[in-house]
Amino acid sequence: MAVVQDPEHGFYWDAAAAGRLDILHCRACGTWIHYPQPRCPSCHSTDVAPTPTSGRGHVVSYTLTHYAPTPELADSLPIVLVMVELDDAPGLRVITNLVDAEPSEARIGLPVEVTFERRGEHTIPQFRPRR
Ligand code: ZN
Repeated sequence: MAVVQDPEHGFYWDAAAAGRLDILHCRACGTWIHYPQPRCPSCHSTDVAPTPTSGRGHVVSYTLTHYAPTPELADSLPIVLVMVELDDAPGLRVITNLVDAEPSEARIGLPVEVTFERRGEHTIPQFRPRR
């Protein structure tokens, strides 16, 4: 999987490599922002900063995909895609993979926590059930 590094998103990948899930937070109005962008979508302030989160949350929606978007994922089917709301950032939703779980474990409300998978030179944040 290709991971694009640019100045706007670099903090996210650097934090992941350090074992943290950092999310942009607006210091003017308190809005959490994901995907990263230079201005707050709520108040248009540019006073936004990467902020560490606990990496804990719960599933608010999910889907199973039986189609591999790239050939190297063909052995991973079905892929469980989940939308996670972070405990630290109510209202913010992160779309990610559910890992370390059977597909049948996916459900709305499932408590999850971030985990990091090293792929080549990049570290990918994903979520697993909280046990
Ligand atoms: Zn704001």
